[in-house]
Amino acid sequence: MSDAVEIVEVTPRDGFQPIKPWIPTAVKIDFLRRLAATGLRRIEIGSFVSPTAIPQLRDTAELIEAAGALPGLRPQVLVPTARRAREAVAAGARLLVYVLSASEAHNQSNLRRSVAESVDDYARMLDTLPGEVELRINLATAFDCPFDGRMAMGPVLELIARLAALRQDVEICLCDTTGRATPDHVGQLASAAMACQPDVTAWAYHAHDTYGLGLATTHAAYREGIRIFDAAAGGLGGCPFAPGATGNVATEDVVWMFERMGMPTGVDIAALLPVAQDAAALPGASAGGRARAALLSSGGVAFANTARCAAQ
Ligand code: ZN
Repeated sequence: MSDAVEIVEVTPRDGFQPIKPWIPTAVKIDFLRRLAATGLRRIEIGSFVSPTAIPQLRDTAELIEAAGALPGLRPQVLVPTARRAREAVAAGARLLVYVLSASEAHNQSNLRRSVAESVDDYARMLDTLPGEVELRINLATAFDCPFDGRMAMGPVLELIARLAALRQDVEICLCDTTGRATPDHVGQLASAAMACQPDVTAWAYHAHDTYGLGLATTHAAYREGIRIFDAAAGGLGGCPFAPGATGNVATEDVVWMFERMGMPTGVDIAALLPVAQDAAALPGASAGGRARAALLSSGGVAFANTARCAAQ
């Protein structure tokens, strides 16, 4: 099994979406350019959702076009329905993230429909998706729901089985939407899901750091064999439909941890720090993470670079 990990940068979608003051499209494009320049190859650049529900992401079509001009970048776009998927593909998206929740209450709150309706719509989307479009499923509230609490593993595994039966050439991301998952729970579900669905192409994990467990759960998923991790520069994030959920685990924290473990991420942390700092300083943003402050204090970046060289 490869030691290399792939980090999916989600600040432009998950991080920006709860920010009320409008972030000009040119500023977002500059973030994409700077994030890509750190070595991040995969960035979730936005979503096709109701502009009334999430006005901050209404310029995603323009960002798809801008991301297309950045060499080597694989931009991904979140969609909640087959109809939005068609819009995203028409705008040029070639890597879609279909989101649904494991919990009924969160799916109703977030998407205004039942889990079964989301699965049916996923099947409809598969029927019309062009062959060249790659697909990930974001399974929100896979561990914990803001309304229903801890999720029992059995029904979550059954839902994964229903989705995998529709298409196995897909990446499935287990999302700790609230940040209340514990490392043992993440390890157990990741292990069981991969064992039950060995033909699914890839697995990913999405941590929130609400209770300071983002790195611990990320590492728990890594130990079970997951190698694709979502993280947000500056620790931005939070789900507007998961009350109390704070930011995603910070990209700089995840890079720091894996590089210190000798696991290459392909990300230049010294280049990432000023971008993360600027994301954290955006008006209306609530930032998180720890490594940024530590590394930006005197000598920190040099130390980070030394550690990175030693690990390679
Ligand atoms: Zn998130």
